[in-house]
Amino acid sequence: MGTHNGETTISTFEFFEMFPDEDTAIDYLEDLRWGQGLYCPHCDSERVKRLKQVPYFLCNDCRKKFTVRTDTVFERSHVPLQKWLYAMYLLETSRKGISSIHLSKQLGVRQATAWFMLHRLREACDVEALPLSGTVEVDETFVGGSKKNMHYERKITLPPGSVGGKEIVLGMRERESGEVIAYPIPDTTSRTLNREVWRNVERGSTVYTDDHYGYNNLDRHFNHESVNHTKWQFADGDVTTNGIESVWAVLKRGYKGVYHHWSCKNMRRYVNEFVFRLNCSKRYNHTIDRLNHLARNAIAKRLTYEELTGD
Ligand SMILES: [Zn+2]
Repeated sequence: MGTHNGETTISTFEFFEMFPDEDTAIDYLEDLRWGQGLYCPHCDSERVKRLKQVPYFLCNDCRKKFTVRTDTVFERSHVPLQKWLYAMYLLETSRKGISSIHLSKQLGVRQATAWFMLHRLREACDVEALPLSGTVEVDETFVGGSKKNMHYERKITLPPGSVGGKEIVLGMRERESGEVIAYPIPDTTSRTLNREVWRNVERGSTVYTDDHYGYNNLDRHFNHESVNHTKWQFADGDVTTNGIESVWAVLKRGYKGVYHHWSCKNMRRYVNEFVFRLNCSKRYNHTIDRLNHLARNAIAKRLTYEELTGD
């Protein structure tokens, strides 16, 4: 295993030594899900038994069959779990994300299949976040549309809602841990911005924002400092939003360079993917720990084709 900047990464070769076939992939996921005790995903009963017909189990209470795929993002997918694990490995180890074209070539599946797999994995990236505290940088950005290098002056005078195919994404980053929370918001009104910061940052924390008027009311409950971007004073000593801005840089490089734009409809899922990968890389140094984390979140979550394509 290679170590780089304190990170322990495993190569593709090592990955396939760990998961040489479908059985090892199934064992791994079963252990992750039921290592503490086997239960039925339909009714939570523990009166279950393994059937001779692998990989099926039978529940003695609800009399339903199940496998490790039941009630997970892998359900009703014909793609082997070994390929799913490799897709997760690739998603976790690529800094800017992975395109469905690239994934389809790596896995030997159709591009439409790879596209759907990636969306299901993004759903697995949607995790409940704990409130941030200490010093928290807050910033909003516009993602989407075709206008490049939108001038800052224009950004703050834009009316509410997504404009010119752009969507507003709000981000909050805890300085000490590097933990990030980000998601699309409908507008940049004072009401919305205050509500979202309230929801995600502990009262009494120090909050750094830019000088957008929408953040003014934060002074009441937070130690609020703002950076005056419009006068081009980017850094006032320690008061910067450079941390969250570096998150936007990664997100936008992925948006342009890897995904070649994504639809606003799926904005939340893409942002989830980037935030999950960043948070995961801060929390876990080892590729396997990151894989465990993503796989655990893939269990007990589902995304049907109808949910993905329907309005
Ligand atoms: Zn049951």
